[in-house]
Amino acid sequence: MSYHVNEKGYYGAFGGAYIPEMLYPNVEELRRSYLNIMQKDAFQKEFHQLLKDYVGRPSPLYFAKRLSEKYNTKIYLKREDLNHTGAHKVNNTIGQILMAKKLGKNRIIAETGAGQHGVATATVCALMGIECIVYMGEIDIARQAPNVARMKMLGASVVPALSGSRTLKDATNEAIRDWINNPIDTHYIIGSAIGPHPYPDMVTRFQSVISKEIKTQLLEKEGRDNPDYVVACIGGGSNAAGTYYHFLDDESVGIIAVEAAGKGIHSGESAATSALGKEGVIHGCKTLLMQTQDGQITEPYSISAGLDYPGVGPMHAHLYQTGRAEFYSATDQEAMAAGLELTKLEGIIPAIETGHALAIFEHKKFNPDDLVVLSLSGRGDKDLDTYINYFNL
Ligand SMILES: *Cc1c(COP(=O)(O)O)cnc(C)c1O
Repeated sequence: MSYHVNEKGYYGAFGGAYIPEMLYPNVEELRRSYLNIMQKDAFQKEFHQLLKDYVGRPSPLYFAKRLSEKYNTKIYLKREDLNHTGAHKVNNTIGQILMAKKLGKNRIIAETGAGQHGVATATVCALMGIECIVYMGEIDIARQAPNVARMKMLGASVVPALSGSRTLKDATNEAIRDWINNPIDTHYIIGSAIGPHPYPDMVTRFQSVISKEIKTQLLEKEGRDNPDYVVACIGGGSNAAGTYYHFLDDESVGIIAVEAAGKGIHSGESAATSALGKEGVIHGCKTLLMQTQDGQITEPYSISAGLDYPGVGPMHAHLYQTGRAEFYSATDQEAMAAGLELTKLEGIIPAIETGHALAIFEHKKFNPDDLVVLSLSGRGDKDLDTYINYFNL
């Protein structure tokens, strides 16, 4: 059984490239070139130099002593929250901006919902002096004012998507339309392990630096390079894909995914894709997708903007279907409580997305000598208002 993408762009039954005819040349150019470019020594050197000097990698692998005592197991936190811009997303945007340059592109487009991926994209465009256009639903622009301001400060144009529900999927449609109209000079930076092949694989490879570092760091600290479990929250699935990557084929490492159950899996307000999803096509790939009987995409809900997505990357759909990974979900309430608990026990305020991963310890009991590595995908500064309102601080 392989958990990696095949030559046709599939993970088992999932993946592929379901795109409009007019997008085919753009995606095909990327598909033909991405591995050749990424595997060149010069590319790897430049990528890792920037990860080191600009992002601040390697991110620490921190033994969380008090959290471990509370749950009577050995918990390590992979500190992606300490990256420049405060989350794992920048690992991917650094990789893709270098890819764009190698492909001779001088214009970047992206879409964003909560604005985190937009900020990570605008950041690397400022770094490289490349034009950046970020599509964002009109409703999201109003809801996410600080991130809109960040993007503008970084020199990006934020273009409102005015059609449909004026949120993420409409912004995605606008970005795709732009790419069709500007095939020669423009690269489209997708922010998670989703989209048409080769995006899920390319994003996963850029994020796989996470599990590569975990192996080295764990060997140093524990004398073994594989934990018993790796845990991550899943929106589209990029921090999870990076955290799992180097352990996918080692069945002695348990893989755990935590999705957002919102107000409860069956409340009608959730983003628990694996539990509720059926096979369908979204953003150019076949995957598990929350949809109505007649195939309309269901509006997802989660208190955390980064997990508020109706699909899941095709790699994760395959991990779910084959049983290679265990899937759990955490409600808003469980995630908020877990976020506050980490703050009190370890002095680390996590992103609410990450609070979902942390809620695993209330759902699953680990053995005292289990080594559990959890992806601390981001920091909670951006979520302070939500914490304040939720806990009446
Ligand atoms: C965007 C985001 C996520 C969810 O995205 P994935 O692609 O599933 O990793 C999780 N945590 C944080 C902090 C984020 O910003």
